[in-house]
Amino acid sequence: MSLKQIMVIGAGQMGSGIAQVLASSGFNVILNDISQEKARIGLSQIEKQLSKQLQKGKMDQNQVNEILTKIKISASLQDAQDADVVIEAAVENMEIKQSIFKQLDEIAPKHTILATNTSSLPITEIAAVTTRAENVIGMHFMNPVPVMKLVEIIRGLATSEQTYQIVHDLTLKLNKTPVEVNDFPGFVSNRVLMPMINEAIYTIYEGVATKEAVDEVMKLGMNHPMGPITLADFIGLDTCLYVMETLYDGFGDDKYRPCPLLKKYVKAGWLGRKTKRGFYIYE
Ligand code: NAD
Repeated sequence: MSLKQIMVIGAGQMGSGIAQVLASSGFNVILNDISQEKARIGLSQIEKQLSKQLQKGKMDQNQVNEILTKIKISASLQDAQDADVVIEAAVENMEIKQSIFKQLDEIAPKHTILATNTSSLPITEIAAVTTRAENVIGMHFMNPVPVMKLVEIIRGLATSEQTYQIVHDLTLKLNKTPVEVNDFPGFVSNRVLMPMINEAIYTIYEGVATKEAVDEVMKLGMNHPMGPITLADFIGLDTCLYVMETLYDGFGDDKYRPCPLLKKYVKAGWLGRKTKRGFYIYE
C-alpha cells in the first residue's frame, strides 16, 4: 500500500516530533490537536527545530520550506478521512485514547491503520473499542523523535501481519530501527526504564541523596548519557506517573508502586521541562 497522507493526533512534544520526521521523509502530514491554537504551537516547535538545523548548516532554506509545506494543522478528527495511517500521540490516558480511537474508527477509511504512540497502555484494549482491531498497532517512538533511532512496534492480540509489515516498512522509511515486542504493560522500554526512574525518585524521597547526586551516580557510574531525574523531567513527570500506574495496575505487583514524591510533583503541575519546572527549574 502506498501511504499518501499520515495524520498525527496530539501536537505535544512527541506528536510534533513525529510530524517533523514524517514530513522530512516526504509524507504529507495532518497535525491534529484539540484546538487550532494547540496544533499551531506544535507546528511552531517544528519550525524552531528546523531553524536550528538551518543555523547548523544541516539543511538549506528550500529543504525547510519543503518540509513545512507538507504539514497541515487540524483541530478536527474528521480530517482522518484523508489519512492512510493515523499515529495517535495524545496524553497517556486510556479513556482519552479509547475515545479518540472510537471516533477514528467511524471516520477513517476501512484500510486506514490506527497506530498509537502509547508508552505503556495495552494496545489490545485500545483496539477493542474499534471494529478493526487487525488494523490497530503500537508504534512507540522515543524522545526526542528526530534524534532517537528506535521505534518499538507492538502487536496487539488481533494485529494482522499486513498491518505489522506496513508499519515496519514505514519505520524504515523514516530512517529508524523497528524492534518488535508483544503487548504487555510498559512493553520492553518502559518496563525496564520507568521502575529505574521511579526508584531514583524514591532515593530522593527517602533522603538518600540529592537529585544532583543521583544523576551524577548514574551518569558517571553507569555510563548513562543523562541522569534518571533529568530524564524524568525530559520525558514529563505526568507521563512517568501514568506509566508507573499502568505497570502497577497491569501486574498488581508492589514493586511498581509510584513514588509519592512523583505524585506530589504531578499534582503541583510541576511536569518537567514542558512546564519549565519539574525536579529542576528551566529558564
Ligand atoms: P504532551 O503533553 O507533550 O502532548 C500531548 C498533546 O496531546 C497535547 O498537545 C494535548 O493538547 C493533546 N491532546 C490531548 N487530548 C487530545 C485529544 N483528545 N485529541 C487531540 N489531541 C489531544 O505529551 P507527550 O510527551 O507528547 O506524550 C504523548 C504520548 O506519547 C503519550 O501517550 C506518551 O505516553 C507517549 N510517549 C511519550 C514519550 C515522552 O518521552 N514524553 C515517549 C514515548 C511516548
